[in-house]
Parts: sequence; C-alpha cells; structure tokens
Amino acid sequence: MANGKCIWCLCDTPDGHLEHIIPLAVGGFDEFALPGSVVCKACNNGLAHLDRAVADEYDTAAFMARVSGRKGKPPAVRSRGNFVATIEPTGPTMTFNMERFAVPAHDGSSAGPYRSGSRNINAKLEIDGSAARISFKQEFGSGPKFIRGITKIAFSFLAFLKDPMTAREPKYDAIRQFVRYGVGVRHAMLLGCDDREYRCGPASLHSSESEEQAVQFRIGHTDYLVDLTERESLMPMFEHTMHETYGANGWTVLPITSP
Ligand SMILES: [Zn+2]
Repeated sequence: MANGKCIWCLCDTPDGHLEHIIPLAVGGFDEFALPGSVVCKACNNGLAHLDRAVADEYDTAAFMARVSGRKGKPPAVRSRGNFVATIEPTGPTMTFNMERFAVPAHDGSSAGPYRSGSRNINAKLEIDGSAARISFKQEFGSGPKFIRGITKIAFSFLAFLKDPMTAREPKYDAIRQFVRYGVGVRHAMLLGCDDREYRCGPASLHSSESEEQAVQFRIGHTDYLVDLTERESLMPMFEHTMHETYGANGWTVLPITSP
C-alpha cells in the first residue's frame, strides 16, 4: 500500500516495515501485524524499546510456554542476572543463584549475585526427604515502560481491527504523546484468565455510538483492557463492572496508585 501516514508520527510512510502488534518474543504472530503503510520505519524502530519492556516482563512465562526467540531461536532467559534459563539437549534447564557472588550457570555462562529490587528472581529451595522443590516469585508489570508498551499494543489493535484512518484522528493525540514520549499517566486493566494456557489474542474493540473507545486482548495468561479515550473516562465504569463481577480478586489496574 502506498501513500499511507504513520499512526504515531502522522508522517508519510514511504519506507515502513511490517509491525507485529504483539511482540514475537511474547508469542505474537504474523496475523496480528500492521503493514508498512501504517507505521513508518522510524517509529517501528524508535518504539521497539517498548516492545522489549513488555517482553522483559514476560520472559520467564514465555520461556515456560516455549515461545521461540527471534528468528526461531530456542527460548532462553539471559537478562535477569541471577537467573539463567535455556533449552538443553536434556530439556528446559534453569540456574537460580541466591548467593552474594556470581556462580557458573548450567550452560557455562555466569549467573550473577542475587540483589533484591532488581530484575533478579527470588527463588526458594525446600528439601523434603528425597524431594526438592524450587519456588520463585517474580514482580510483574512494575517496569516504568510496561504500560506504554501495553498501550502501544492496544492502539495498534485499534488501527488493525477498525482502520488506520480512525487511529490518525486528533482525539488519539493523548495516546500518541503517552506512548512516544511518556507524557501523562495512563492505566491498563489486567484480568487473569481462567484457563492455564499461554496464548496470545484474540483482540476485540469496545465501541459505542460508532466511537472506538477501548481494546481488549490477551497475552499469555492475562487479558488486558485499555481505555483509549482521551481522559480515560471509561475506567471508572470498567472498574465498577469488575467489582460487581469478580469482587476484589482476579483483576487489577496498573500502575497501582497509592491512596
Ligand atoms: Zn512514524
């Protein structure tokens, strides 16, 4: 397609590339992609750090679900310091290092010392007779760019499910400012999925009176509901519905605001 305009910078897109809406690293696929006429090359590259921010939160879940890395590489986690996970000939293998010094990991690389408050994984080993059990905790969604990445996905789905013309309307300038520059505060509602399956999609639009207002989609074990109105005017209604349907559990809104 020629003569398009980018939904992010609103410039012409003579040189755009296919943009995967859900990053491949978390299990996105080619069916959910925007053509080069909708996202320019500069924005595709310039906003890739937000895709990485989402992928960083999902790295362990995507590893467990055997989501392949870039260009079909086997799944692996190597950016968490004290935690290394790779697929070895014997199967998925992980090293957790809870020491204060680096130790060799199972694959010959190095697992760094454990530091709390970082992206490190806090693991616990319990030994009960001849059985050992490792449990670990991981923070999710607290990275500062995570909501921007989720909002980028939601807005891309609007262009995909409705049409790019709609996404270029001035009423979405607040979304553009937030995603591109981090201007303003926006939220995302997260809902746990009942099944234990790791999968991505489908996505749906919530509209009324022909206005597109919110997008819902799934990544891994979580459903996201993102209010795309300028001032997030639908969020109170969404939160009310969630309270009515599920009570206080099974859903949350990020970023968590302190009272
Ligand atoms: Zn652009």
